[in-house]
Amino acid sequence: MSILSQAHFHNEEAAYNFIEARIWPNGAVCPHCGGVGRIGKMGGKSTRIGVYKCYDCRKPFTVKVGTIFESSHIPLRLWLQAIFLISSSKKGISSNQLHRTLGITLKSAWFMSHRIREAMKGNDKGFLGKGGNVVEADETYIGRKPGTKVRRGHGHKNAVFSLVERKGSVRSFHVPNVTADTLKKKLLAHVSKKAKLMTDDAKQYIKLGKAFASHESVNHSAEEYVRGNVHTNTIEGFFSIFKRGMKGVYQHCGHNHLNRYLAEFDFRYNNRMANGTNDTERAEKLLLGVKGRRLTYNPAP
Ligand SMILES: [Zn+2]
Repeated sequence: MSILSQAHFHNEEAAYNFIEARIWPNGAVCPHCGGVGRIGKMGGKSTRIGVYKCYDCRKPFTVKVGTIFESSHIPLRLWLQAIFLISSSKKGISSNQLHRTLGITLKSAWFMSHRIREAMKGNDKGFLGKGGNVVEADETYIGRKPGTKVRRGHGHKNAVFSLVERKGSVRSFHVPNVTADTLKKKLLAHVSKKAKLMTDDAKQYIKLGKAFASHESVNHSAEEYVRGNVHTNTIEGFFSIFKRGMKGVYQHCGHNHLNRYLAEFDFRYNNRMANGTNDTERAEKLLLGVKGRRLTYNPAP
């Protein structure tokens, strides 16, 4: 059976049930008072789908309250379609494509996809490489900073700093620059001191590397890319997917949205097939992040 023929992609009640089962694994929770005991599902023909009433605080609610779905008029079944499409497409899916495929306005598609990216943000808890594993660190550049002219070098571009644990997960950051100070803060906040750090020969790392169990680098400026197990191929592979996606799919990424695009590419990488996560599981995992991730401002393009 095609994944897309599952009921929650077509039937609104099934969509609510699907989301409720994941957000409330132990039954409905009142978002107003936190009550769990005295909650009733509203029935009757005139009641909207998915409305509950809490008899502690006497307020009605649905599973959408306090999530990325709150105050959206798009049916939840279409949200689930969008979530599946975004989380299963390796390089992402453009708002234009979502607009055409789902039959919603471009504005709605744009709004939805940014909320979905918001739900993809990781919690970044704990350190990478804490078991003494290899962590690769590298920088890349994308797009253009607002108000800058194109010059030689990277000064006019947005800088991205990423850390990846081999056979583990990646964390990416939109950074204001790649000075030793900036990179140091990220390294110390996210990488265990027990990790073996691997980088290229950029000079910022010479001193920074001393904070870790070991630091080795490949001399990219002398065209050395691999020396035994010393390389940065894992992080470069990640950057290559990120760049192909950003260039091919997301041609106009605003500078202030880059962190959300990074969250999207990190999320897919961290829940990839090679780690045993299939497309359906990846989309379900995303639903665990929809709570408390409302975008409260109007994220106009
Ligand atoms: Zn309540």
